[in-house]
Amino acid sequence: MKSELLYEGKAKKVYQAEGKNGQLVLSYKNDATAFNGGKKDSFEGKGRLNNKISALIFSALSGQGIESHFIESLNETEQLVYQTEIIPLEVVVRNVASGSITKRLGIEEKTQFENPIIEFFYKNDELGDPLINDEHALYLTNATPGEITFIKEKALDINEVLKKLFQSITITLVDFKLEFGRKADGSIILSDEISPDTCRLWDAATGEKLDKDVFRQGTGDLIEVYEEILKRLEAKA
Ligand code: UDP
Repeated sequence: MKSELLYEGKAKKVYQAEGKNGQLVLSYKNDATAFNGGKKDSFEGKGRLNNKISALIFSALSGQGIESHFIESLNETEQLVYQTEIIPLEVVVRNVASGSITKRLGIEEKTQFENPIIEFFYKNDELGDPLINDEHALYLTNATPGEITFIKEKALDINEVLKKLFQSITITLVDFKLEFGRKADGSIILSDEISPDTCRLWDAATGEKLDKDVFRQGTGDLIEVYEEILKRLEAKA
């Protein structure tokens, strides 16, 4: 199914799909990193959980008319996706204040944003993924002004679908990070992954953190909370 290894990132390996031009195999790893690679560990079963959770989320988005690079799951840890050239932007959408925005802007954790806040970070490990504005994004990427607007609108549409999806399984979607890529035909689509590695997910009843913050902050069992997310999504699917 897969041939040449094209790229190995912190959480996934990317292979050319055998005999399928323009398609890739994403292989989800068990590794977890935080603080720009400053904290590292490996968790048996994490690759399987994120592969499954990401597939369920991309499928839910597709059901609401939002396409992504996801084509199909291949096995426990791998999925087939359309090949894209990743636009080096981390597009963060925030519904509730947590993480970097609380420190950067002095906003108290748990503050609700009536209108979701979108932030762009420049995807560049050497620079530590700095926060940038739209003008910087235009300069640093090959996206046009219309495409930057498209990306922001898409991010808000995705937020609406995912907020409802998580609400229905008693989870608050606090914030999340998206990446977009350009397909060979020039169009831009949602890429990468959407999982508890890239979202903040709080139990809506208890406030318990069910995402990578348990690893970042050393406050819980990563596999246990990712299992809980998968269990609730599967019960819903
Ligand atoms: N995020 C991510 N990858 C990154 C940085 C952030 O997936 O390299 C996600 C993170 O899990 C959270 C959201 O983006 O859901 C906002 O992260 P934030 O800017 O608060 O940064 P953090 O506090 O995680 O460093």
